[in-house]
Amino acid sequence: MIRRPLMLAATVATLVACATAPGVRSERADQVTTTSQPSPTPSPTTSPTTSSSPAGDELGDGIGDALFPDLGNPGLDVVHYDVELSYDPTTERVDGTVGLDVTLTSARDEITLDAVGLTASNVTVGGESVVAVADGPELRIPLPQPGSAGDSLRIEVSYGFENAQILSPIGFSIGWFNTPGGSYVLNEPDGARSWLPCNDHPSDKATYTFTIAVPAGLTAVANGTLTDHRTVGDQEVWTWQQDDPMATYLIQLLTGDYEVVDGTGPDGLPLISVVLRADKATMQQFIDVTPAMIDFFDGFFGPYPLDSYGIAMTDSFGGLAMETQGRSLFSRDDFLGGLGYTQQLLLSHELAHQWYGDAVSPARWVDIWLNESFATYAQWMWLEHAGFSLAGEEATFALENRPPGSSADPSAQDLFGYNSYDGGAVVLHALRLTIGDDKFFELLRRWATENSGGSRTTADFIDLTQTVAGAPMGDFFDTWLFAEQPPSEFPIGQ
Ligand SMILES: [Zn+2]
Repeated sequence: MIRRPLMLAATVATLVACATAPGVRSERADQVTTTSQPSPTPSPTTSPTTSSSPAGDELGDGIGDALFPDLGNPGLDVVHYDVELSYDPTTERVDGTVGLDVTLTSARDEITLDAVGLTASNVTVGGESVVAVADGPELRIPLPQPGSAGDSLRIEVSYGFENAQILSPIGFSIGWFNTPGGSYVLNEPDGARSWLPCNDHPSDKATYTFTIAVPAGLTAVANGTLTDHRTVGDQEVWTWQQDDPMATYLIQLLTGDYEVVDGTGPDGLPLISVVLRADKATMQQFIDVTPAMIDFFDGFFGPYPLDSYGIAMTDSFGGLAMETQGRSLFSRDDFLGGLGYTQQLLLSHELAHQWYGDAVSPARWVDIWLNESFATYAQWMWLEHAGFSLAGEEATFALENRPPGSSADPSAQDLFGYNSYDGGAVVLHALRLTIGDDKFFELLRRWATENSGGSRTTADFIDLTQTVAGAPMGDFFDTWLFAEQPPSEFPIGQ
């Protein structure tokens, strides 16, 4: 993700300074108007007169993520989500149902889902109605019969909301945003739970079917492939299928006057982009440059790891770019001036995330550098290829401007700070110089291909580095990754 002001200045020097500005973010009050916070006390959601007896803290409120302790839900693995929503842009009301195919990973008589500020009207487990309880950021769902590890369950939650956003610990609001022309979602890291009861942690990836109803004349867009589009009464219903395992924070859901633009990338890769109909002529150049970028990264990172790719140009505030899986999300406002440095940076950064972040996701949020540093390094490589700047110069500039702090140990407030991006890309450049180009790119390829579809930690990356390097690398990572202050100069390259 990139979320910061973008300067469209004319000189590369100015733009380099902009691209490496540490962790600055903008927020427009008119775009973030409501905040739903966890309710302080449990309240029944299906009946005001009856309530289950939730087990309180028996399950805990998360899976132990150090930065986001209440994210995730113990004892369950979501295999598939069926997200069925109906959106009325005139009232900004969303109603629907999410069905979850869940496998229990431990014995239990209750499960939780992450759901903040959402009112569930009905909840079933295996077709039986149960009385679920909203308990702060959790929806507590009693099981009709005690379950054992390995049991498969179908959970269905009917719910609705308006303007669902939360103020994330990272410092800005995320969730569901209404726009003049429709809506979009921005989820990273913990916003999906503001509009979708889910297991909102990147360690649990699943497949998805999105069935989204909008008024006739509008388009609904989600990750994956459009598998059905029909008219039902005065609504159009759009069904999208995401078969690649995906973390909740990577969900794309757009409504508006969009046109779906199909194309073909390297090796027959389906390209499925979406642009606002009025923007199509302006945005075609960015669709057109995409195959060359995929081809370039294929050569270094291995084959593009997902079933399809594309770009989505939405009517969000400027400065937003997000690696929504299989189709990166950008703000149209950042792409009205042609294909310059900033556009090349944004397009290449989010594309590279499809390998690093989407195919291979962080197992814990503290591992965010495995996403952002890799995408930043890839962006430097593309900018060099495109003739804008040299990766080595970008790295030197980043090292000189790096604030103290380990890239492997960010706080929640600094999750998207300098050392997760350029500061961590410095670590990768030092690693490249230490082990040489051949082993460095073998490492990046193996990291993407061997872990595709999974979620991994920094320790996993260090293990693979040592395997590829054929030597202990503890001293290197202690010096460059874990140290509060890395060396002031890069190693002499091989
Ligand atoms: Zn990013």
